[in-house]
Amino acid sequence: MKIFLETYGCQMNVSDSGKIVYLFAGQGYQPTTDSKTADLIVINTCSVREKPELKIFSALGRYIPLKRKRPELVIAVGGCVAQQWGDKLIKRCPGLDIVFGTHQLDILPDLVSQVRQSRKAVALTDFQERPGGMEVMPAPAAEAVNAMVTIMQGCDNFCSYCIVPYVRGREYSRPHAAILEEIRRLAQLGIKEVMLLGQNVNSYGRKEKGEINFAELLAKVHEISGIERIRFTTSHPQDMSEALIFAFAELPKLSPYLHLPLQAGSDAVLARMGRGYTAADYLEKVRRLRRAVPEIALTTDIIVGFPGESEADFQETLAMLEKVRYDQIYSFKYSIRPGTRAAGFADIIADEEKRERLARCQALQDKISQEILAAQVGRRAKVLVTGASKRGAGEWSGRTPENRIVNFRASEDTRSGDLLPVKIVAALKHSLKGEVVG
Ligand code: SF4
Repeated sequence: MKIFLETYGCQMNVSDSGKIVYLFAGQGYQPTTDSKTADLIVINTCSVREKPELKIFSALGRYIPLKRKRPELVIAVGGCVAQQWGDKLIKRCPGLDIVFGTHQLDILPDLVSQVRQSRKAVALTDFQERPGGMEVMPAPAAEAVNAMVTIMQGCDNFCSYCIVPYVRGREYSRPHAAILEEIRRLAQLGIKEVMLLGQNVNSYGRKEKGEINFAELLAKVHEISGIERIRFTTSHPQDMSEALIFAFAELPKLSPYLHLPLQAGSDAVLARMGRGYTAADYLEKVRRLRRAVPEIALTTDIIVGFPGESEADFQETLAMLEKVRYDQIYSFKYSIRPGTRAAGFADIIADEEKRERLARCQALQDKISQEILAAQVGRRAKVLVTGASKRGAGEWSGRTPENRIVNFRASEDTRSGDLLPVKIVAALKHSLKGEVVG
């Protein structure tokens, strides 16, 4: 039996897709990249980015006709779009067999067996008190150096533009004992770097009685031998505690790298977004972080053209890029998510204006990113080797502690997972070039 999986969106979805492959491997399914020979097609959807439904309908338009030749083929749609549409998706797309929500990942194999027997389509999207799938722990691929570990899911913040609380449900933190057990197992299998995942990891443990907080969790992960680097995503600035800032200074394995979503630089826009902080609050957190760890690299998310964003508001976003000097930004034009508060906001910005602001924002950031990379030349860094470079020619690729990509030549006995001292000799457009030293 073969499973073909198509994944859209964020790291949480990528992690969930890994779990789906693992669950079906236990049932004898092999992954395939050829949808035409698959016995099961799973589309794992995301509704955070623009026009998500269009992508799903177009994918189903490609896959459902395959059933004419292979009537035993089962097609399932999961993730955030599935959560929003529920059984309406089955009515809209005859031939689709399963719609499963973000809390039903663990029962997908049962749903597939049920559909194979009954040949009746099924939609299951109820939120559970404890999201199913949190305790599915896939084995890492051979040669893998890093692994993602889900520590919490859902969000209680309800930012006015965001669909996450409606499609992933309310915040739930996984028990820390289960997280640590999974990471110990990963370390035994050779994993050197873990990425702790959640929609708002900074609020880990807040709602569960007796649970430790995020900074305490990091300290416990830090004790696990074999794990050399720890990263996490995503953080909400308003929940970034002093204890977490202190952890960056105290825990050498915690990468000096943080993705800290800003979204906008204008206080008026931030208030309409419901973000719970001002630009000054954000800058103060950055100042404290850099006082604790001067070399920390920051990345962020920016939304341009939020309803009511004036040119002056937008200029404040550009000013924040200049002040913070991020390594990279992930920037997007605002687009409406039906069902969110912002979907009802007036003062919509014309698409042309949004496009033009986005281009200006990205041009400024490209300049800053280039300057930051250029400033690395001559420095030495301990690079975690992640594999052969995509550029080929006997080069290896790795990451500095600040998560910057470095390509370099190294001896033949180099292996993924090695930690090598590398001198940075050149800055390219999105990466660095290095030489192994010492
Ligand atoms: S904190 Fe993040 S996930 Fe939660 S509602 Fe706001 S943007 Fe969405």
